[in-house]
Amino acid sequence: MRVPYYDLSRITQSFEPELSAAISRVTQSGWFLRGESVKRFEKDFSDFIGVRHCIGTGNGLDALTLILLAMKELEGWKDEEQIEVIVPAFTFIASALAVTRAGMRPVFCDVGEDFLLDPYQVEAVITPQTKVLLPVHLYGKTCDMQTLRALARQYNLKIVEDAAQAHGAFYMGKHAGNLGDAAAFSFYPGKNLGALGDGGAVVTNDGKLAEMVRILANYGAREKYTHEVMGFNSRLDEIHAEVLSLKLKRLDEDNDRRRQIAKRYGEEVRNSHIRLPYRRNVQASVFHIYPILTTSRDKLQKHMANAGIETLIHYPTAIHLQTVYSDHGQKTFRNSERFAAEELSLPISPLLSDGEIQYIIDNLNDYKP
Ligand SMILES: *Cc1c(COP(=O)(O)O)cnc(C)c1O
Repeated sequence: MRVPYYDLSRITQSFEPELSAAISRVTQSGWFLRGESVKRFEKDFSDFIGVRHCIGTGNGLDALTLILLAMKELEGWKDEEQIEVIVPAFTFIASALAVTRAGMRPVFCDVGEDFLLDPYQVEAVITPQTKVLLPVHLYGKTCDMQTLRALARQYNLKIVEDAAQAHGAFYMGKHAGNLGDAAAFSFYPGKNLGALGDGGAVVTNDGKLAEMVRILANYGAREKYTHEVMGFNSRLDEIHAEVLSLKLKRLDEDNDRRRQIAKRYGEEVRNSHIRLPYRRNVQASVFHIYPILTTSRDKLQKHMANAGIETLIHYPTAIHLQTVYSDHGQKTFRNSERFAAEELSLPISPLLSDGEIQYIIDNLNDYKP
C-alpha cells in the first residue's frame, strides 16, 4: 500500500463537479480581482468565525504582517521604540517573519508540553517595549487564551492570533480567530481550508483595524490614487474566493473526520517507543497536524517509508536556532528544541480510508528501533 502524507489531488477531486463549475463562473465573468466572489467569501468566513470583519489577503504571512502594520499605524508605534512581540520559539517561521517585516522585534518564548505558547514563561519575557502577544494555535489546537488575555489586560498588550493551522477550532465556545484583537489565516493548499494556490485572511471585530488593513493591503490607498500610508499589494483572487466558499461548507465535516482518525490513533497505537501527546482529549484540536514524539525519529520515519507511508516533520529546527534569528541571543528553549528533535507528523487527511488508517496503525505498532 502507498499512503501519501496528504493527497491534494484526491482532496481536490472530491469537490467536483462543483469546484470546476465555481472556477468556470469566474473565468466566464472576466473579473478576477476585487469583485463579488471575494466579497461573498469575506462574508461567509466572518460569519463562520463569528467576527464582524474579514479581509482577504495574498497569503497568511501577509495577513499577519498587515495586522501588525495596522496596529502600528493606529497606535502610533515608532520603529525607534523597538517594539517587541512575543512569539513561540516552536512554530512555522512565518509567525516570526511577520514581526520582523513589520519593523518590530520578535521575542521568543518556549512552548509547554502541549506545543503551545506557555503563558507562565510569557510573563517572564514581557518588558516595557512589549506591545503584542502572538499565540500560534499550532497543529490546530487553541492556546490557553484565558491566561494570555489576563496577561494582556495586566500589561496592556494586544493579542494577534496566528490561526493559520486552526480553521474551525474552538476555545470555550468561540472559534479560533475570535479570541484576540485580530487573527491571521492562511489558505495555503495544505491547510484545513485550502485554496488552489496562495491565499489568506485577516479577521477582527475592530472596525478601525479592519479599515486600516484594507488600506495597507491596497497600496496604502483609501481611495484610488490617494496614498496616506506606506502600503503594499496583497489580495485574495476571485478564483480562490469561489473555491474557498465552496470548501468552507465541508470544513466542519472534514475536521470531524480528522478528529475521528486522531481518536483511532490514540486508542490503537500501542508502542513504548512512540509517545502520542494527543492520546486523550481529541476534541480540543482540528488536527491540521497529528504529531507523535519519538527519540529515534529517523529510524521510525524510514520504517514507515519502507511500508509506503509518508510522514513529515513539523518542524525540524526551532525558530530561535534558525540562521536568520541567530542575532537574538543564545537562549535555550527546552521544549521547543526537544519537539524539533522528536516530532513526526502522521497522515491525517480527512479522506484516509479505514483500511489506510489501520495500515498506518499496524506499522506503528510493528516498529522496533
Ligand atoms: C502556513 C502558516 C503561516 C503562513 O501562511 P502562508 O499562507 O504560507 O504565508 C503562518 N503561520 C503558521 C503557523 C502557518 O502554519
